[in-house]
Amino acid sequence: MEKKNIDWGSLGFGYMETDYRYLSTYKDGKWSEGELLTDPNVVLNECACVFQYAQTVFEGLKAYTTEDGRIVTFRPDLNAERINASAAKLKMPTLPDGMFIDAVKQVVKANSAWVPPYGSGATLYVRPYIMGTNAVIGVKPADEYQFRILTTPVGPYFKGGAKPITIRVSDYDRAAPNGTGNIKAGLNYAMSLYNIVDAHEKGFDENMYLDPKTRTKVEETGGANFLFVTKDGKVVTPKSNSILPSITRRSLIQVAKDYLGLEAEEREIYLDEVADMAECGLCGTAAVISPVGKINDHGKEICFPSGMEEMGPITKKLYDTLTGIQMGRIEAPEGWIVEI
Ligand SMILES: *Cc1c(COP(=O)(O)O)cnc(C)c1O
Repeated sequence: MEKKNIDWGSLGFGYMETDYRYLSTYKDGKWSEGELLTDPNVVLNECACVFQYAQTVFEGLKAYTTEDGRIVTFRPDLNAERINASAAKLKMPTLPDGMFIDAVKQVVKANSAWVPPYGSGATLYVRPYIMGTNAVIGVKPADEYQFRILTTPVGPYFKGGAKPITIRVSDYDRAAPNGTGNIKAGLNYAMSLYNIVDAHEKGFDENMYLDPKTRTKVEETGGANFLFVTKDGKVVTPKSNSILPSITRRSLIQVAKDYLGLEAEEREIYLDEVADMAECGLCGTAAVISPVGKINDHGKEICFPSGMEEMGPITKKLYDTLTGIQMGRIEAPEGWIVEI
C-alpha cells in the first residue's frame, strides 16, 4: 500500500488521526463481532462508568516495518494477557482467546499506509483500551463495555541520540500495597499527574517511586520500569508485585542472557544499593531504554559512571539488540515477532 505523504523523521510522540479504528462492544455477556470505523470521536452517555469512576484499562504496542518490508508487531500475546489481567482487576469482562491479536491485525492492516517506513525511526503506535460505557451513578462496575484500538504514527523517541535524564526519589507512593499498581490503567496515570508536573517544575524528568510498604525498595517511575547494570556487568531489575510487568523489561532480561551472555535477574533492589550501580535505564515500549544519568535523593545526588552524555555500554548493547530484533535485523526468539 502506498504510504501517506508524511515527513516521518520529524514526527514526535503525539497523536495524529489515522484512517481507521477498531470497535467491539460488550452487551448481555458477550463481545460483538469487531468492526473498523472511520469516525475518531466516541459518543457515550454523560454518566458512563468510564467518565464517573474511571473504569478503563489500556495497552500500548507498536507496529514496525522490517528491513525486508514486512509489517510486524512485537509480542502482542503479552499485551493480550496483560489487558485481561488489568480488566479483571477493575471488574471488567476479559477478551476471549485470539480476539486481541485479531483486532490488532485488522486495525494495523487497515492503516498500513500509516506504518512508517523502515529506517525512518518512526513506528505506528497501537493503543487498545476497554472502558465501561453504560450509565452508572451508584458505585458498581458497568454492564456494557467498548473494546477499541486507535493507532497513531509516532516519531523516534530519541531525536539526535539518547540523552540521559535526571530522576528524583518521590515522597509520594505510586501504588497502594497489593492494590492496582500492577495494571495498566488510566487511573494510575491520573494519580501521577500532580507529581510529574511537580517534578518537571523542579527540573527533574521523572519520579522514582519506592515500595509503599517500607519505602526502601525501588519500584518504577510513573510509566516505565527500572533496569540497572551492576559494576560487575550483571543486569538487574526490581521484583515487586506492585509494578507494571513491562514487556520491554522482561524481553531485555532474556536478551541479556540469551544474546549477550550476561547474567540477569529480577530481584528486590534497595535504594541503598543504587549508588553502587554502573548503569541505570528506564524501559518501556515508547523508548525501549532511556538512560538515566542521575538520581536525586532529597538533595543527595547519585551519578552513574556512564554520565550525562550517552547510554552506558551495556544499556546500548541491550538497546541495539532489542531494536534489531524488532526491526527484523536480528533473528528473534520463537513467537516474538507477529506478522500483520
Ligand atoms: C506501559 C507501562 C510500562 C512499560 O511497559 P511495556 O510493556 O514495556 O511498554 C511500565 N510501567 C507502567 C506503569 C506502564 O503503564
